[in-house]
Amino acid sequence: MEPVTTAAVAAAADVVANRKEYFGPKALISTLVVILVFLWLVFAPFSRVSVANGMSSTGDQCVPSGASTSTLETIEKSVESDSTLKGKASLIESTANANNIPPTLFAAILLVDSKEIAKKPKVDDEIKSRGTKFKGVQSPTEAAAKKDGDTAAKNQWESSLGSKYEGMGGTPIDCAGYYLQSGSGYFQFPLKKITVTSWFDWRDSPTGGQGREHHGGIDFDCGPLSNPDKVFAARKGTASVKVDPGGFGNYVVIDHGDGMQSYYGHLEKATISNGQVNQGQMIGYCGTTGRSTGTHLHFEVRKDGTAVNPKGYLPPIN
Ligand SMILES: [Zn+2]
Repeated sequence: MEPVTTAAVAAAADVVANRKEYFGPKALISTLVVILVFLWLVFAPFSRVSVANGMSSTGDQCVPSGASTSTLETIEKSVESDSTLKGKASLIESTANANNIPPTLFAAILLVDSKEIAKKPKVDDEIKSRGTKFKGVQSPTEAAAKKDGDTAAKNQWESSLGSKYEGMGGTPIDCAGYYLQSGSGYFQFPLKKITVTSWFDWRDSPTGGQGREHHGGIDFDCGPLSNPDKVFAARKGTASVKVDPGGFGNYVVIDHGDGMQSYYGHLEKATISNGQVNQGQMIGYCGTTGRSTGTHLHFEVRKDGTAVNPKGYLPPIN
């Protein structure tokens, strides 16, 4: 510490006095306005672009970036060029919520059927009746299952719906089956691309010499170790990073707080530490650590400590 001299004190007082000129209330407010306008100019275009892409640009989240914009705003933008549905965004959103349908999915359903809806005498009544018809659907595939028509027509409708929905930030094409109700109890796929290599079932031991064994989870194919796939939290919860060299290798357990837990086995490495994780948050890279014969993700769901078939908790696997 240098001794404090009278000159230094005087100089410091001078600096404080000068600062007042730069940081007085008026100057402070104009500075804040300039900063806010700057931030808006920089970030507003990005948020629009990411909605169109449907994926967060960071690549470390498997969540629709549409979630960063208000759902109502997304719907409003999507229907504004549709003469039948223009101005109906609030009704679309409330009808969707009343029927437990992701609002942007419901908007996409209506857009695909817009010409049909235009023929009906009352558009509002038709929107409400479609809410009842598609009650509870969570994906374009589930919606198509409730659609009238022959298989070819249904497939065509599903594909149009899928691309509309994706354009609105829903179900990114490389985040198969993502459910918009983030954190509501639904699980999303832990990988962007889903290829099942082994189901939850009895099977011959893949590592040999141990006979039949019960496979307590689903194995998903992963990229090569040189470029391993990213693994995402299937649902939000409290994560623990663990190591079991004779079993799951490097693995993560997420406790979802309602008796449900999810396990992510044989990771090359975890990229989180113990603590809260959000649904869709990247938690690690696929690998082949522990008792494993090749790069894959062992995904397991336990209910009250017992392994249950993950298929019953994930979006439909085609
Ligand atoms: Zn497995």
